[in-house]
Amino acid sequence: MPNTRRSEELMARAERLFPGGVNSPVRAFRSVGGTPRVIERARGALLWDADGNELIDYIGSWGALILGHAHPEVLEAIGRAAQKGTSFGAPSQLEVALGETIVASVPSIGRLRFVNSGTEAAMSALRVARGFTGRPKIIKLAGGYHGHADGLLVNAGSGAAGIGRPTSAGVTAATAADTLVAPYNDAGRVAKLLADNPRQVAAIIVEPVAANMGVVRPARGYLEALRQMTIDDGALLIFDEVITGFRLARGGAQERLGIQPDLTVLGKIIGGGLPVGAYGGRAEVMAVVAPEGPVYQAGTLSGNPLAMAAGLATLRRLVPEVYGRLDDFGSVLEAGLKDGAHEADVEVQVVRAGSLLTVFFDDEARFARFFHAMLERGVMLPPSQQEAWFVSAAHGNEELRATLVAARAAFREVRG
Ligand code: PLP
Repeated sequence: MPNTRRSEELMARAERLFPGGVNSPVRAFRSVGGTPRVIERARGALLWDADGNELIDYIGSWGALILGHAHPEVLEAIGRAAQKGTSFGAPSQLEVALGETIVASVPSIGRLRFVNSGTEAAMSALRVARGFTGRPKIIKLAGGYHGHADGLLVNAGSGAAGIGRPTSAGVTAATAADTLVAPYNDAGRVAKLLADNPRQVAAIIVEPVAANMGVVRPARGYLEALRQMTIDDGALLIFDEVITGFRLARGGAQERLGIQPDLTVLGKIIGGGLPVGAYGGRAEVMAVVAPEGPVYQAGTLSGNPLAMAAGLATLRRLVPEVYGRLDDFGSVLEAGLKDGAHEADVEVQVVRAGSLLTVFFDDEARFARFFHAMLERGVMLPPSQQEAWFVSAAHGNEELRATLVAARAAFREVRG
């Protein structure tokens, strides 16, 4: 068992300060039990905790770090930008450069606006959709996470379609009533919601490949059906590509799957590990945003030069060969995990889309045992099986071999 005394001491202090000891809930290990490791530093595919234990990282700052931690070119770009000032609250050259890079890469984005998080981007995209269409309601899909804006913390649960109920205290029933919920991968239920709410739905927001309920691929024809229904109805189609953008392909899932939404929500990778989000889409839709149009949205630190510089340095590195290598690593990891589970006679579903992967156990307790067995062997997985494993371009053969050795032993331990 690794020594984790220092992490435990720090978490005891953190518990006194922060709810659950953390500044974002999933970090708290509530679904797996135990005490989170407090991270001291990171480089490439590796993390070191406060007690000096080395960990192979499959969280990657929840997908932001596609090049791995502390990439030298990203660090240099941040340093260079910082020397010139950390925030202007005025237009800057770096935001123009990153904006042009995104427009050139993501097929459906003609114009965009930078914000500071994926939450802000999704919330703003919905406001734009409502402002553009003049309609009040939105449709989201059960289990889909699009950040913590009130109207998106709604999930009818157990796959029931209809008016959403809040999944968080503090969200009013009135807010939730404007959010309609359908099960993922069921186009018929979305069609029914549209038919039951004529000219009421401003937008459907969907992760084109779901990565917050484990990884779930879209069923054949599903996204195409959503695209056609929204065109017919006059609602907008919003792809939340906060995770999939610049990860499944340079142009995101929309490039890989060949479907163009009206609006796209981005975050994570476009900030290279600094706080960024963006929303963008067709020029005539984006024209409703202030100061050109009547939909207000603003931000003191939006387009922050350090974040723009980190994003630019990251996107510059994302050439086609990188996606090939991420895919190769993912496919060997997937096969190795399936073999390991099979050898140990443990029932799991391994689902992968490019460098996103899920190992799903039939019960949470088994996942918790697997998670801790991996952690003890130096592999840091997301502490919930609803969250995807994120592979980075810094993960190499050595990490792959060590991960699969650990996984074989962990699967045997789970079988017990
Ligand atoms: N959308 C998706 C698909 C996400 O996975 C997340 C966060 O994980 C968000 C939106 C919210 O992004 P942020 O955490 O930057 O607010």
